[in-house]
Amino acid sequence: MLQKIVLFAALLTFSASISAQEIHKRVLKLMGSRFEITVVAQDSIMAEADIDLAVAEITRIEKLISSWDPNSQTSEINRNAGIKPVAVAEELYELIRRAKVISELTDGAFDISYASMDALWKFDGSMTKMPDSSAVKASVAKVGYKKVILNPVDHSVFLKLPGMKIGFGAIGKGYAADKAKALLMEKGVAAGIINASGDMNTWGKQPDGSTWKVAITNPMNKNNAFALLPIVESAVVTSGNYEKYVTFSGTRYTHIIDPRTGYPSTGIVSATVFAPKAELADALATSVFVMGKEIGLDRINQLPQIECIIIDDQGNISTSENIKIDTK
Ligand code: ADP
Ligand code: MG
Repeated sequence: MLQKIVLFAALLTFSASISAQEIHKRVLKLMGSRFEITVVAQDSIMAEADIDLAVAEITRIEKLISSWDPNSQTSEINRNAGIKPVAVAEELYELIRRAKVISELTDGAFDISYASMDALWKFDGSMTKMPDSSAVKASVAKVGYKKVILNPVDHSVFLKLPGMKIGFGAIGKGYAADKAKALLMEKGVAAGIINASGDMNTWGKQPDGSTWKVAITNPMNKNNAFALLPIVESAVVTSGNYEKYVTFSGTRYTHIIDPRTGYPSTGIVSATVFAPKAELADALATSVFVMGKEIGLDRINQLPQIECIIIDDQGNISTSENIKIDTK
């Protein structure tokens, strides 16, 4: 009988500690964007310590990949464009190598060397007319993932042409979200979400046992979520141009530029990509904008474990083959 009571008491404490699991969230600015870090923990002291770890990890990655920070290895690569190869940390080398694979996968729609075209376009409302076509043409000449030369022996990166530049605007937040998630999982944090301004990465379950879900909204009608989809141990990333775009003669141009033409993409207002990793989802969401609806969907349908939802500038919703939502 005594044994039973002890067991019962032990069970009670166990269930009490389970039910004490709570969701803790911190919102802050990292990598120039709004991050929301959510962890499931027993108390706020543990949660804050876990979140601090994630913040330190994201800050570390930012120092490595920022093209704004003159002290980053990425800036050193850019400064030496057309001059000499720069040996970099294996982590940065590998990120660039994977980025080139995604360029191949998307026929160059995704290209980290897009960055030299950035100077021509401003999507903050300050642009009053289209840049002239000769300037656009000149900017494209400095772009091309095939001119990013990698040497696996010394982990060096060489940008072939003077004036070439790389930038991780379309993949860096996803990569950082993956790394922060991996670190917290390794530290034994049972569940959480890293949300890097729309690049969401989840693991584990909510304290009540339910799966994390993401609401998909239509940028044409922001208050109305049209789908609530589960994300289990995976990532979902939305690239949406409802914040950064310019309109010339009635056409809406987004901040995502086609590296092959030098002109910003048109036609899509939002692309959401589901993938096991946020890095790939991030890069593919950007690529879909450039590839357009038909080619974008076709490409996504060929990739295992990757799905997408596209909203075009007419408000039409299209999905890849394995996503079934009521789009009415
Ligand atoms: P956001 O992070 O703004 O939601 P994305 O992940 O799609 O959107 O990244 C857009 C950013 O990627 C741009 O602001 C620019 O820095 C960069 N970029 C633009 N066009 C391309 C491209 N074709 N390939 C790679 N990066 C790009
Ligand atoms: Mg992206």
